Amino acid sequence: MMPETKRLLFCANWKMQVAPGEAREFLTRFRAAYLPTPHRHTWFFPSAVSIEAVAGAIQGLPNARVGAQDVHWEPKGAFTGATSVPLAQAAGATAALIGHSERRRLFGETDADTARKVRAALSGGLVAVLCVGETLEQRERGQTTAVVARQLGAGVEGLSAAEFDRMVVAYEPVWAIGTGRNATPRDAATVHSGIRSALIDRGATNPWILYGGSVSQNNVAALLAEAEIEGVLVGGASLTPDGWAGICSTGA
Ligand code: PEP
Repeated sequence: MMPETKRLLFCANWKMQVAPGEAREFLTRFRAAYLPTPHRHTWFFPSAVSIEAVAGAIQGLPNARVGAQDVHWEPKGAFTGATSVPLAQAAGATAALIGHSERRRLFGETDADTARKVRAALSGGLVAVLCVGETLEQRERGQTTAVVARQLGAGVEGLSAAEFDRMVVAYEPVWAIGTGRNATPRDAATVHSGIRSALIDRGATNPWILYGGSVSQNNVAALLAEAEIEGVLVGGASLTPDGWAGICSTGA
């Protein structure tokens, strides 16, 4: 059983879905179904066009944030299609996902890019949620630890202790995202443990580490029962308000 005081963070990654009106409707239904408690945090990562709608709809909801799914490292300029930290903030964002595997795989984002984005997010005042995780091929070659260490090392290079306090790391094995396959709670907890040690070695005091990859109402309790897993980053299962409220109420 997880102790009732364990902090828990539930992040919804809505990807390229949920228009502003749908987001407002979602939040009305979610808020009717979800009972907040002091140790639960629920953050939403909608498409940039829906950040403002979510920011309005979560007002007064305890421990809630809205964040961008990606930010550019430059504060402004000729970067068609990109969202800067100040633009995201102007829409109401207080957090940003950085280095999601879809950004890395589909948009060619490198470790150096994610490092610049983490810096930009933190220095601009956002909370950064850095995503790391190995592909199936890397896992089968026994490279999980090395890949996660490399992505993490690049992402947090040179951060101060105060900056670590505004960082969350999400371990998302790429082979588990959107596939219905997920890491066993024990396997995920083992990787989390390595991430925790690496972050503490670099100056973090109390790293907050999430698991992501095919999390559902069926498996979330077992994942969160692991002491090392203090939350989840969820794609598909965050798209229905009642289902998401159920996930966010796990252990209540
Ligand atoms: C994600 O997009 O970060 C994710 C974990 O997706 P899903 O929950 O659908 O696997």
